[in-house]
Amino acid sequence: MDSLTQIPGVGPKTLLKLKKLGIGQPSQLVYHIPHRYIDFSQYRPIRDAVANENITVRGVVLDFQNIYTRFHKNIQKAVIADKTGKITLIWFNQPYLEKIIKPKSTFSFAGTVSLYQGRPTMMAPEYGQYNTGKIIAIYPETQGLSSKWFRKNIQIFLDELLGTIDRDLPQNVLEHFHLMPLRNALVQVHNPSDNKLLEAARLRLALDEILSLQAQSYLNKRRWLEKSPRYVLKATPKVNLIINNFIKDLPFTLTPDQLRVWQEVEADLLSASTPTNRLLQGDVGSGKTIIAILACFLASLNHRLSLLIAPTEILAQQHHKTISQLLGPGVPLFLLTANSKIDFKHIPKNAIIVSTHAALFKKHELQDKVAVLVLDEQHKFGVKQRSFLASPNNPPHCLTMTATPIPRTVSLTMLGSLQLSSIEHLPKNRLSVKTFLVPKAKIADCYQWIDKQIQTEHDQAFIVCPFIDISESMASVKSAIKEYEYLSNEIFPHLKLALIHGKLKSKDREKIITDFKDNKINILVSTPIIEVGIDIPNANIIVIQSADRFGLAQLHQLRGRVGRGHRQSYCYLLTESDNEKARSRLEFLQQNSSGLKIAEFDMKNRGPGEAFSTLQHGFPSFKLASMTDLKLISLSQQVLEFILKNNPKFNLSCLIQSSTNFDTTIAAN
Ligand code: ADP
Ligand code: MG
Repeated sequence: MDSLTQIPGVGPKTLLKLKKLGIGQPSQLVYHIPHRYIDFSQYRPIRDAVANENITVRGVVLDFQNIYTRFHKNIQKAVIADKTGKITLIWFNQPYLEKIIKPKSTFSFAGTVSLYQGRPTMMAPEYGQYNTGKIIAIYPETQGLSSKWFRKNIQIFLDELLGTIDRDLPQNVLEHFHLMPLRNALVQVHNPSDNKLLEAARLRLALDEILSLQAQSYLNKRRWLEKSPRYVLKATPKVNLIINNFIKDLPFTLTPDQLRVWQEVEADLLSASTPTNRLLQGDVGSGKTIIAILACFLASLNHRLSLLIAPTEILAQQHHKTISQLLGPGVPLFLLTANSKIDFKHIPKNAIIVSTHAALFKKHELQDKVAVLVLDEQHKFGVKQRSFLASPNNPPHCLTMTATPIPRTVSLTMLGSLQLSSIEHLPKNRLSVKTFLVPKAKIADCYQWIDKQIQTEHDQAFIVCPFIDISESMASVKSAIKEYEYLSNEIFPHLKLALIHGKLKSKDREKIITDFKDNKINILVSTPIIEVGIDIPNANIIVIQSADRFGLAQLHQLRGRVGRGHRQSYCYLLTESDNEKARSRLEFLQQNSSGLKIAEFDMKNRGPGEAFSTLQHGFPSFKLASMTDLKLISLSQQVLEFILKNNPKFNLSCLIQSSTNFDTTIAAN
């Protein structure tokens, strides 16, 4: 079949409806996978029809009536009989049935039996060969295209539709893993013979979805391995000595995790053959920045340029400050933002540039010069932005960092092309943040307590205004200004408050952050821009208004703004919502401090798409597979390894399905 119009009755109108469901070609119709099934395979004598069972009965139509009630309702009522008894069938608003279900004809009907006016009755039963006496499929539908339509047409044209499928896994793979051949699986999934075969069919198709991602990931990795680094970095004894002394002289001792991760990163950076493509994950506050600094420092000691890109200006400024404090004047350091330009002609070869997105517009100036590229909070960047500088055949060493913890299942499927390092444990002596849910009635008490803490203990607090927009819009800024005025005038009139948001001039913002750091400000009112990265160890209280509107991962990030110093920290989640689900999400956050657990919870409850849309743009959507199914993911991995070993000539790209197409590298090819 070349075109869906070969199906009788499919004209321009139906084509439009099919399009709505994402079906434009015959091959897409055969991949229109039912989302559930009803088992009508049990035939029953009418006498044995029991309430609440799904069954099929077969009998002669004794009577059919089209009834119009006083309330303009239209009911169809039929009575059928077999040798054992009679049963009533009822439909609503289907007057055309009169022409089909004629008295004296014999029909099969499938449905659920219920008691209606004391008698066993089937409400709106299915009829006809495609819908009775078998397990029937329920499809994603749209107005005018019912599951009935799909069942009938897919069953009639299944052979032709399968003619469009010309690929499968190699025979030896199918045999080794006892997998159903693809065409059989597609037959079973639309027209199941029994539950066991249906299950095997669904497993096969789900496996294909995961395999598609893994194959893509693998191919990306292979492509990356063919590249070579733009500049080769070396660790001479002198360089080693300087770095070791630098680590020794830090104001803190690196944790074992940080030391291990630095070894992993350093080994990558010193590779002469392969550019680094490593993702460093570590919970908020775990100390990723120092790894980034070490990477840049190594480049600098090799007389090469490095670029550290942060998603916000505040964060870039903060990194700039941290680096200048730690590395001192010996290393030339530049800040590149929309408000702070640099003269590329006069940048020393060993400089470190800290920048915002502004660097993305300086591709020409930077492309040939950068040896090490670090992307902080990489999930804040789009795919195109992430591919910046990394597209040529000899890209810089790329280190990306994220605080979004990555469940193992996700890294196994999607991120196989990246090397992964994790900082698993926070620096010692960190107290976990005490988290409380604050309902509306308790908000005043909460503010009073904070007031007291500030007055008696010199605590400092963040108050985060509700999340209105993903990008910071005027609306969020306006509501933050209003809240700031309310809090300053009504709640904390004798304290020093300041307001920070992304629409402030960078100079003003910098001053506010510095004043807050110096404890000249008691409470910093903010839009959610402080979510990423800001590090103010003395602040130990954070209040998040309308917490139910934020995603859990984002709340976890926000909470990570406190708990960085030695004192006990507190996080107050204000919510006016009575919604049960919203509450239980917040309660989960209250009881858990592990970013990984929170991410997994989010993934189960909201689906990976939503939970990880921030981690990886264009997260694939599966029809059958689940990103939480570790068993399936391991099976898929074994299959891929088996193919690589036993079928080296097999073209892996034919495993890739367009619906699961996405970017698996930070650095697209
Ligand atoms: P994140 O991983 O969220 O980027 P940062 O790198 O900002 O975390 O580190 C959070 C805080 O922890 C900073 O104040 C940093 O100076 C401090 N820090 C980092 N490493 C250590 C360590 N090994 N011991 C004590 N404090 C550390
Ligand atoms: Mg950080």
